[in-house]
Amino acid sequence: MRKASRAFLDDLLTSPSVSGYEQPAQKVVRDYIGGNAERVETDTHGNVTAILNAEGRPRVQFAGHVDQIGFLVQHIEDSGYLRISGVGGHDMAVVLGQAVSVWTATGPVTGVIARPPVHLGGHEGKLPEMHDVHVDTGLTVEQTKERIAIGDAVTYALLVRPLGDELIASPGLDDKVGTWAVIEAARLLAGDKALAAGVYSVSTVQEEIGLRGAHTSAYRIHPDVGIAVDVTWATDQPDVKAARTGEVKLGLGPVITRGPNINPVVYERLVAAAKQAKIPYQVCAAPRGTGTDANAMQLSRGGVATGLVSVPNRYMHSPVEVCHLGDLENTAKLLAAFVRRLEAGATFIP
Ligand SMILES: [Zn+2]
Repeated sequence: MRKASRAFLDDLLTSPSVSGYEQPAQKVVRDYIGGNAERVETDTHGNVTAILNAEGRPRVQFAGHVDQIGFLVQHIEDSGYLRISGVGGHDMAVVLGQAVSVWTATGPVTGVIARPPVHLGGHEGKLPEMHDVHVDTGLTVEQTKERIAIGDAVTYALLVRPLGDELIASPGLDDKVGTWAVIEAARLLAGDKALAAGVYSVSTVQEEIGLRGAHTSAYRIHPDVGIAVDVTWATDQPDVKAARTGEVKLGLGPVITRGPNINPVVYERLVAAAKQAKIPYQVCAAPRGTGTDANAMQLSRGGVATGLVSVPNRYMHSPVEVCHLGDLENTAKLLAAFVRRLEAGATFIP
C-alpha cells in the first residue's frame, strides 16, 4: 500500500469516532482529501463529503461509515469509578477485561473495564449486563471530577496490530476501512477529465445506531446511484458457517452483494468493472434489507439505485477485528473502475 494511504488508514483507526462523536476521525478525512477533491463539505449532522465533477451525471454517492461502536460515561460513582452504556452492538464476553480510552475535553484518559474477581464468587460462567461492569481509570476522586464528564465517549484502546504480512487487527475496522475506501476512490479519480459521473464520497456518521448519516446525506445529495462500503463476515475462521451467510475469505477481494437491497444494473456494472480492471471479487447474497448504509440510501426520496461492496472482516464488533490490506486497496480500485465506466445518460431502471 502507498505510504500516504497507509498513514491515512492508521490515522483513521487511531482517531476516536463513537457514533455521534465522529469529528476527530472526520478531521483526518478532511485533511487527507482536502487537496484532491473539488470541494469538501461537512454537514450539520457531521457527514463529510468529498466532491468531484459536481455537476456530472449520473450522480454517484459512495458511503463508508466512519462511526465505530463504543461506550458513553453513564454514571460516575462517588468512589470515582465509571459506569458505562454501550453505543452499538456489544458482546459482553468481549467487553470484560478490555483497556479503554475515555475521550475527555482535556484529552484521553486510560482505563480498564472490570468486575470483581471470579474467586469472590457468584458470577462464574455468567455474563454481566453493561451496567454491572465498571471502568477503573486510577484517577483520584478529585481528578475524576475535574477531567471526566457524563456523556464522554469511551473506545477500546485504539491500536493497529499487524498480523503476519498482510493482515491488521484493530478496533473500528468496521467501518473505517469503508471510509478509507470511499475517500481513497475519490483520490484515485481526482483530476480525471474524462469522468461523466459526479462523485460524492461520503464519510457517514451514526450508522451503528440506525444508518442515520446515510439517511440525511442521501437526501441532501440526491444521488442516482448509492454504493455503500462496509465490512462483512468472513467465514475463514473456526466455527463460522458458510451455510449461513455464504463463503467469504480474507484476501480474495471485495464482496459484491446481490439481493433485494441491490439494484440489478448496479450489481452487473460492479461485476463488469471488476472483470475489466482485473480486480478479484467475491459475491454474496442478502435476502432482505441489509444492515448497512445501502438500506437507507435505497429508500431515500423516490428510490436510489443501490449497491453494496464489502471488505471481509473477522471478529466484527470486537477490539481485534481483522482485515486484509489487499482487500482494502481492491475495494477502492473497484469503486474507481465503476465510476470510470459510467457514461452520461446511464440509467438504472431494472
Ligand atoms: Zn459497519
